[in-house]
Amino acid sequence: MKTPPSTISVSRRRFLAQMSAAAALLLAPRRSRAVNPSPKPRKLGVALVGLGGYSTYELGPALRLTEHCRLAGVVTGSRKKGRKWARDYAFPEENIFDYETMGRLAGNPDIDFVYVVTPNSLHAEHCIAAAKAGKHVICEKPMATSVADCDSIIAACRKAAVRLTVGYRLHYEPHHAELARLAREKVFGPFMRMKGANGFDMDSSATARTFWRLDKKLAGGGPLMDMGVYVVQAACMAKVEAAPVAVTARFGPVTRPEVFSEVEESIEWTMEFADRAVANCRTTYTEQVSNFRAEADHGWAQLEDPAFYYDEPLLTTSQGPVKLPRVNHQVAQLDGMAMELLEGRPSLAPGEMGRRDVAIVEAIYAAAAGGRRVEVSA
Ligand code: NAD
Repeated sequence: MKTPPSTISVSRRRFLAQMSAAAALLLAPRRSRAVNPSPKPRKLGVALVGLGGYSTYELGPALRLTEHCRLAGVVTGSRKKGRKWARDYAFPEENIFDYETMGRLAGNPDIDFVYVVTPNSLHAEHCIAAAKAGKHVICEKPMATSVADCDSIIAACRKAAVRLTVGYRLHYEPHHAELARLAREKVFGPFMRMKGANGFDMDSSATARTFWRLDKKLAGGGPLMDMGVYVVQAACMAKVEAAPVAVTARFGPVTRPEVFSEVEESIEWTMEFADRAVANCRTTYTEQVSNFRAEADHGWAQLEDPAFYYDEPLLTTSQGPVKLPRVNHQVAQLDGMAMELLEGRPSLAPGEMGRRDVAIVEAIYAAAAGGRRVEVSA
């Protein structure tokens, strides 16, 4: 969530007072000039791994607007593309890396964070390479295509003593943060009945970059891995980050077998929580849909129009519409994660949360495949 302007200087002061030796090093300006007695803290350097759609149209442009971090390098399979990014974003060509030589990142002091934005099943390999190079890691969602891969990423980051976060931008978006507050403070009582859906029409948006999403080896699954994760996230958020104890699920009908030969076209599932709360959820590659509703005994909250895309979601509660500042999701997330690191605060979206969600996704697939209730060990 974007910090309101009035609180920024206070948090900076507190931050400077509490700054650890490690954070002090991170903040030290690269080329300090004696003429400036109180130089501005330098922005943290981010290297994007994978220059596809999300990097090109969202993260790169967001890194032009961020206050606490900037684009400092890229990892790409195309040197030509890397050079164009270096020109456009004004970083030196020595900060262009390829996937095979990510180890070279270790010697580069411009880069603090490595942000992995490649197809899902490659996240583990690229996150582990970044951790081994001693860089903090942001991993796009889903964190990996198996819990085993999540465990390997977490172990590598622990071993290297680097921070691991997941690109869950909505934790930094004010309307979702308000849903989290309503849940945490039990404003309407605990949310007990939840319903949500998220999807898009793969047919109408079929471009080259959607193809890996239909390849089970690269995507790990269909819309559940891609869009359904947001509904899983919202339900867990409404339960104050508790994981469900069990799930039931069923695959939807395959209306276009020529497109969906490897991954599901749609899937619906139910999450049961320890306090008997229930979330009925759905995700699909055949329909533009994005909404979430949580009901408690004394009120309800609803996100829609759309709930999970990049736009400003409409939040309504039983008390009326909730108007909060509109933010650029990626800017809010990147600055939020940079400040968490600089202030030594725990992240709103740590690796363990990514692992929890992949464990839930695995259970949902097992439930749908086996036609049975599956307990979740998240
Ligand atoms: P994309 O296909 O547009 O880009 C993928 C990039 O990975 C390309 O640059 C491609 O060259 C590179 N790549 C490296 N090795 C590859 C290989 N073996 N096969 C295919 N591509 C390879 O995909 P995208 O939409 O940018 O998604 C990338 C990741 O970002 C995914 O994990 C996705 O879930 C995530 N994502 C997150 C959000 C969000 O809102 N948080 C939005 C979009 C995508």
